[in-house]
Amino acid sequence: MILDHDVVVLGAGLAGMRAALEAARAGVKVAVVSKVHPVRSHSGAAQGGINAAIGKDDSWEIHAFDTIKGSDYLADQDAVEIMASEAPRDIIELEHMGVTFFRDDQGKLGTRAFGGASKARTYFVGDITGQALLYTLYDQILKAGVQIYEEWFATALYTVEGACRGAVCIDMLSGELHLLRAGAIIMASGGCGRVYEPSTNALICTGDGIALAYRVGAPLMDMEMVQYHPTTLKGSGFLMTEAARGEGAYLLNASGERFMQRYAPKMMELASRDVVSRSETIEIAEGRGVDDCVFLDLRHLGPEVVMRKLPQIHEMALDFLGIDMLTTPVPVRPGMHYIMGGIKTDATGATAMPGMYAAGECACVSVHGGNRLGANSLLDTLVFGRRSGAASANYARQVQPLTSGEDFLRSEQVRIAALLERPYEGETHARLRLELGTMMDRNVGVYRDEAGLQAALQTIQQLKQRYQHVAVGDKSRVYNQALTFVLELGYMLDIAETIVYSALTRTESRGAQSRTDFPKRNDAEWLKHVVIHSHDGQAPAIDFSPVSITKWPPQERTY
Ligand SMILES: Cc1cc2nc3c(=O)[nH]c(=O)nc-3n(C[C@H](O)[C@H](O)[C@H](O)COP(=O)(O)OP(=O)(O)OC[C@H]3O[C@@H](n4cnc5c(N)ncnc54)[C@H](O)[C@@H]3O)c2cc1C
Repeated sequence: MILDHDVVVLGAGLAGMRAALEAARAGVKVAVVSKVHPVRSHSGAAQGGINAAIGKDDSWEIHAFDTIKGSDYLADQDAVEIMASEAPRDIIELEHMGVTFFRDDQGKLGTRAFGGASKARTYFVGDITGQALLYTLYDQILKAGVQIYEEWFATALYTVEGACRGAVCIDMLSGELHLLRAGAIIMASGGCGRVYEPSTNALICTGDGIALAYRVGAPLMDMEMVQYHPTTLKGSGFLMTEAARGEGAYLLNASGERFMQRYAPKMMELASRDVVSRSETIEIAEGRGVDDCVFLDLRHLGPEVVMRKLPQIHEMALDFLGIDMLTTPVPVRPGMHYIMGGIKTDATGATAMPGMYAAGECACVSVHGGNRLGANSLLDTLVFGRRSGAASANYARQVQPLTSGEDFLRSEQVRIAALLERPYEGETHARLRLELGTMMDRNVGVYRDEAGLQAALQTIQQLKQRYQHVAVGDKSRVYNQALTFVLELGYMLDIAETIVYSALTRTESRGAQSRTDFPKRNDAEWLKHVVIHSHDGQAPAIDFSPVSITKWPPQERTY
């Protein structure tokens, strides 16, 4: 089937739903596609909160500066100014839509402290902030009459004369493939956490949209910038929100020392994430950890704070490790959490490809640069989701409707049918996925060097060869997750390759990229973005994009 819309949004997380709402408000015909039910998108897992400078002693300029310093001066300052200055209106709007943000004893909106921020400016709903926002926006897009294709899985983007004009998707319930044609497409498909193993991300965060955009020629930027979160639970890698440290939790090493005083004497546990993750990695490597972990200590916060403001992580530590954080410190380690890089866009969400917009974690505006501050990602999804919704609606109105697309749909149907029929030769997606993820964690994690990155590249190339022989275990059509797992693995391999190429290119240490062979930041040569393009089956092509500096020249970064 071929279905026509003005704007098709690929992804129903916060970025996608906020974009869809804005496009619908502009009066165009909008559809949202999601491979899971919208409220199961990873945005629903966000715990800690969302930043905005609303309080009297705060200002958007201070928020912008904290963000830029956090980014290790790689963020584009014009884009950060937009995000920080527009943040208050987005938070207030969400509150008016019905999000029950925490209120203090006087009934005023209350904040909590977060890492890398010089003021407490994080607004929150307990430790389920993402879920509260996501359900509210879902209500809003239903009310606005947005068409939702849920449990539809995108397999390819449709381009006509260099412009993005649609996406082919599998309706997972029937197994049928359909082409959604559109005047404009907004990529809002989230991050790629699962390229690493373990990760705090949901199993569905496999970077599909980033890879789909890359395959049709949209450039990606800052892909080397992969954030490790300092507090992920031992074993499972689940997130213990930064809000715990925001509420006053300590990090301890094996001898009970608050080691952050040696690395970040001013901000301690609330230094930027890259700084804390590196400090923990050093503690563990030098033998001051236990079982490759350090400890998150909440005992002194008491049951009143923990049970009122952090009930979810209390339950997670109890369920998954049998540890009651009210009485016992919790073992944690740095774990893959977020990608600062993604599809390169301007501040309206427009990419280099006409008709393609991008917002949220799959996009790179770049407001996070080398390191994202906690609680700035939810904000990014709302501000740039809204902006890309408005800009794409405007663009789509001026585009001629299409009559083509049947041949493209047929070729995708043939490709997917051939994949389904491929015989089993002993290679499974699960094994390859695990090998990829553990290798990325080992070689392309907190610390990197040339030898490790070259080895990673070799492994990825071998895995890509083996991928050609992966069979789909289930041959049926109805809800065939074996098929989508295989397609996801293909996306993940492409993304892993762009991360490693970009990390090899940047021969300095900045933000989340810590090269032990190039330990210093080098502004003279590297105050620029690494941009990567796909290149017809050959090695990807790399070029550079300047960093926009408005008011804040680079300084030494201390916490
Ligand atoms: C555990 C956790 C806690 C976090 N806590 C915070 C926090 O407190 N504050 C903060 O600011 N940030 C936080 N973050 C980061 C933040 O939640 C995410 O960066 C943000 O929610 C991403 O939103 P998104 O809309 O871009 O993508 P997502 O919410 O991931 O949505 C992606 C959408 O794309 C769809 N999709 C993907 N691939 C396909 C495909 N092939 N076909 C069809 N649909 C597809 C999915 O179905 C989904 O609807 C947290 C992240 C995690 C993992």
